[in-house]
Amino acid sequence: MNKKDVFEQVSYMEEQIGQLYQQLGDLKNHLSELLEENHRLGVENHHLRNRLESSQDSNGDPIDSDGNKDLSIGEGYDNLARLYEEGFHICNVHFGSPRQHEDCLFCLLFLNKTK
Ligand SMILES: [Zn+2]
Repeated sequence: MNKKDVFEQVSYMEEQIGQLYQQLGDLKNHLSELLEENHRLGVENHHLRNRLESSQDSNGDPIDSDGNKDLSIGEGYDNLARLYEEGFHICNVHFGSPRQHEDCLFCLLFLNKTK
């Protein structure tokens, strides 16, 4: 193998390493997106579970306005407000589904009513 060949091979490897490095960066971004989504789904799941447990004897109202049963208003309100801020519906029309960056009148009414 002459010197020119060696040099070309080294250049080629350098190029390959550059591409691999790029791919690694892409994968890393993808991974962090997946982790974020995983976290988001975990939070959603958690809230849906709570919702399911706390609404088993109710008639479908998220929190009935007269008797705030087992849900302490402060904590429940914070959780719901946070859930809304994270981009999910908290109204009983679309509860738990993503809001796609739009405000929802039902949710806002619900937040005001609960506060
Ligand atoms: Zn809503």
